[in-house]
Amino acid sequence: MADSVAEAMAKLQLDPETGEMVSKGELKKRMQKRARKAAKVTAKDSQPPRAETKATEKKPASKAADSTLDPDAMFKQGFLSDVYNLRPAPKVRTRFPPEPNGYLHLGHAKAIAINFGFARYHGGETMLRFDDTNPDAEEEKYFHAIEDIVRWLGFTPHQITYSSDNFQRLYDLAEKMIQIGRAYVCHCTEADLKLQRGGEDGKSPRFRCAHADQDVETNLTKFRDMQAGKYEPQTAFLRMKQSILESGNPQMWDIVAYRIPKNRTPHIRTGTKWHIYPSYDFAHCLCDSFEGITHSLCTTEFITARESYEWLNKTLGVYEPMQREYGRLNITGTVMSKRALKELVERGHVRGWDDPRLYTLIAIRRRGVPPGAILSFINELGVTTSLSLIQIARFEQSVRRYLETSVPRLMLVLDPIRVVIQDLGEFEGQDVELALSPKKPEFGSYKAKITSTVYIDRSDFREVTSKDFFRLSPGQNVGLLNMPHPIKALSFSKDPTTGQVTEIQAALVRDAPKPKAFIHWVPEGSRKVTVRVHHALFKSENPSAAEGGYLADLNPNSETIYPDALVNSGFEEVRRRAPWPQAEGEKAGAGPEGVRFQAMRVAYFAMDSDSTEDSIVLNRIVALKEDSKKEAEK
Ligand SMILES: [Zn+2]
Repeated sequence: MADSVAEAMAKLQLDPETGEMVSKGELKKRMQKRARKAAKVTAKDSQPPRAETKATEKKPASKAADSTLDPDAMFKQGFLSDVYNLRPAPKVRTRFPPEPNGYLHLGHAKAIAINFGFARYHGGETMLRFDDTNPDAEEEKYFHAIEDIVRWLGFTPHQITYSSDNFQRLYDLAEKMIQIGRAYVCHCTEADLKLQRGGEDGKSPRFRCAHADQDVETNLTKFRDMQAGKYEPQTAFLRMKQSILESGNPQMWDIVAYRIPKNRTPHIRTGTKWHIYPSYDFAHCLCDSFEGITHSLCTTEFITARESYEWLNKTLGVYEPMQREYGRLNITGTVMSKRALKELVERGHVRGWDDPRLYTLIAIRRRGVPPGAILSFINELGVTTSLSLIQIARFEQSVRRYLETSVPRLMLVLDPIRVVIQDLGEFEGQDVELALSPKKPEFGSYKAKITSTVYIDRSDFREVTSKDFFRLSPGQNVGLLNMPHPIKALSFSKDPTTGQVTEIQAALVRDAPKPKAFIHWVPEGSRKVTVRVHHALFKSENPSAAEGGYLADLNPNSETIYPDALVNSGFEEVRRRAPWPQAEGEKAGAGPEGVRFQAMRVAYFAMDSDSTEDSIVLNRIVALKEDSKKEAEK
């Protein structure tokens, strides 16, 4: 009996419109009915061409949903394949060079996936290089957080290096630049520099300041004095002697090579040894060169910097890596800037830098998004030279697709109502064996008890029966998932003060025809959990441009808490065998967020880091279908 029930249940499908579990036949019937209705509406619509465009727009999305994309697709074709062919090095070596001055966000995941993935695909290796050249902005905690996220995404750095490892070597090369007449110490102000670079509108003739004419000895003495601490910040800096007069590229207008940081904060790794620090433009290409990087991949903001990158390595006669630029990934509907995130955290609008409503990688991780889902999202987008401006909904769609086949299924009731089933008879106390995934038998199963008291979701009961409602209502039969027979509501009682239904009396209907719909339930004795369902943190697609700024654009209902949710016994099994899935970056030990599952008919969930042994907190990772606008703003 139990087996045939399980078999029948495995065949049920989710009706995305009503959220009910129904048979294949019933779903087909419903879809046809809706299609007929939609066709009627279209026929009434006097703009048929518009409807046509809509239909064709939808096609690629459903196609993408069906096909499983080659996980290496982004390296096999398009931009990254072209980059490799420009320089088909036998031993590819790339680098990921973050500045340790903040938490990485979803945009950085693209840089990680590209740099580490490109090398891995070509059998090469990747350096994780901390670009620690600006002690005023850098903090110890970011070194750890960044490395942790890289490993969580499933990548292993060949070596962890620091730009600061090269401070002496960089300094020596700066002196060499002076000696060959290619650098000079300048004392000009910001305003002077602007004038030299063509003035306010950039249209006046460019010129060099008098400092450019200093002889080598003077420049050397001044540069050594800078390092000896004899100059105040911003009173002296080393400039490269490029081609400010001839070149149209601002990156060639005698840009800064060395500066004295404003606050003179001691460096995390070199303390007070250095009074001067190399600029990004000076340090980056040289560190790439020192480390033997073959392909230096960065975002398109650095296209103009490619010229100075190549110029400096050539001028110094060192090994020359190849820089190429891809379009960055931006997510709309959120804020990513460090300043904005800091304000949200400090004003208490979110629970911290890792709040699941944010798009830092630590937040996405806490929310329960598996690392593999992030990589497959980036792979799906592909890599080109244009900016990817992506809506949150598209990211979530990709995550949902990834979770569908990679996590087990359980039953969880968000807002429970007690249902007392009379005459349960021989089923009372019986164990049913439930599959953790109807599609993946290898996931195994767990045992759940049938009890005469069960809990269903408040939204699955109506006090008055109506034609279009197929769930529980007085006199109406409804199937309980994995239960041998449907139930029928007989009566219900209400709390006289709140007017809320507190208990439903029901009966098992042994001779009923197959019910139209099935709902989820949990037995008596199920674990109580707190569920946090997050919605968009902002109301608009571009919070920073909102009237009154992003704080004025905050969605006041971005978090709904269900303090009395109940999850069935399969949760213990899912927890014991976490992480789901067993992905590269989480094998060695995932946090609570590795406990992921689909709550049938509800959403995908993961355990939150606020959980304790006795008090489990779950985050919604994503809904089962795209949030309707209404729900998102709830
Ligand atoms: Zn000057």
